[in-house]
Amino acid sequence: MKPVTSWRVAAQRWVMCLLLAIGLDFLLGSTPWCLLLLLGLNTLWNFFQLHRFQQWLSQRDDVEPPLSRGYWGHIFDEVYQLQKRQKVSQKKLKNVLKRIQESTAALKEGVLMVDSQGTLEWWNASATELLGLRNPDDVGQPIMNLVRAPAFKRYFEATDYDAPLEISSPINPQITLEFQLTLFGKQDRLILVRNVTQIKQLEAMRQDFVANVSHELRTPLTVITGYLETFIDQASLVPPRWLRALQQMSTQGRRMQNLVTDLLLLSRLETTHSKEPNPVQLKPLLEGIRNDALDLSADQQHDIQLSIDHSDLLGLESELRSAFSNLVFNAVKYTPQGGTINIAWHSNEQGGQLSVKDNGIGIDPVHIPRLTERFYRVDASRNLDTGGTGLGLAIVKHVLIRHQGHLEIRSNPGEGSEFICHFPKERLLHPSVSPSFT
Ligand code: ADP
Repeated sequence: MKPVTSWRVAAQRWVMCLLLAIGLDFLLGSTPWCLLLLLGLNTLWNFFQLHRFQQWLSQRDDVEPPLSRGYWGHIFDEVYQLQKRQKVSQKKLKNVLKRIQESTAALKEGVLMVDSQGTLEWWNASATELLGLRNPDDVGQPIMNLVRAPAFKRYFEATDYDAPLEISSPINPQITLEFQLTLFGKQDRLILVRNVTQIKQLEAMRQDFVANVSHELRTPLTVITGYLETFIDQASLVPPRWLRALQQMSTQGRRMQNLVTDLLLLSRLETTHSKEPNPVQLKPLLEGIRNDALDLSADQQHDIQLSIDHSDLLGLESELRSAFSNLVFNAVKYTPQGGTINIAWHSNEQGGQLSVKDNGIGIDPVHIPRLTERFYRVDASRNLDTGGTGLGLAIVKHVLIRHQGHLEIRSNPGEGSEFICHFPKERLLHPSVSPSFT
């Protein structure tokens, strides 16, 4: 019933009651009693409607509302329509939920929902298989009780979920699982779990293969380059036509030896766990690298500056030497004659930074994201015969990962390059403020 009509019905009712009261007033001759009777009747009628309304609401089935006119009829109708609309949207929501559950159940990846307290709320069938969960016993259990690895606890609590976490399955240590967490709602977490055992095995096979081949190539290469150098040393005994060929073979042989050495180093960095870190004195280390760089520059006469503060670093000296010398030697290789190279070590509240800056040929920014890939070379430098292996920056990246650091590259063609190794402050020793210059 429309509000206008209900208004009219209510007005009619009041007019009827008023007429009745006037009639009674004539009969009984007492106005207050008649008004009281009128109010009483109206209240009784409203109570009766309220009672019908409550009775109807308490019925669970889809029963039509009781018939009524006026405002009450309108209220019954509106509530009934509201109920019907709610039922339709509830049904739709249930269907959507059912479809989501069906699709997540069909996923090969485990999907888990955990609340802000770390309590397990829901998971799919694959998660049951991968993590050995029991339904419904584990609902409401803390996830830490079910995945007990300390690395998982640290990862879960750190809330920095940019990179996934790989750990062994809690039910089978032969299986490697990859966890990727996403925050949603009020610090709730969606956890995706993937079985990456096969990928890890393939990766390990590839690394073993590269390491074995490199290792096997080492001895024959040493023999070949050794003989070639002996022949070149005996230049007077070698026919002059052959000397140039022998020199080229020797250069390429040495290049292959460098490649094998870099491949072996890279595979060791990838496959072995970091050793216990030691205090590394950066001043002698960087001065040594600067001297080697001056030797490499030779008659190209680069101006190589070193600026260093008094802090040192906790790490592995041999690995840091490889990383830093790769950056400094690259600066020499890719900076034209007479160019300037600045090597600087500084520490602050954020951590330590080693910067190697040159005013050389520079790199187009489009190449920067891929520079640390193995054998990635910028086109322009490909034409230059720098004698590089294409593995230098990959080695730098891995050394930094093993020191919880990262590499930042800033460069523009023709404007030079800056490679910055960032180390966390936990790795700094005796941070100081006064820099010294060499
Ligand atoms: P490579 O053995 O070829 O030097 P790296 O991995 O050390 O291999 O470097 C990858 C590529 O990055 C190089 O081929 C070069 O194009 C570019 N590069 C590295 N350092 C510099 C630099 N200081 N200036 C310009 N280009 C550089």
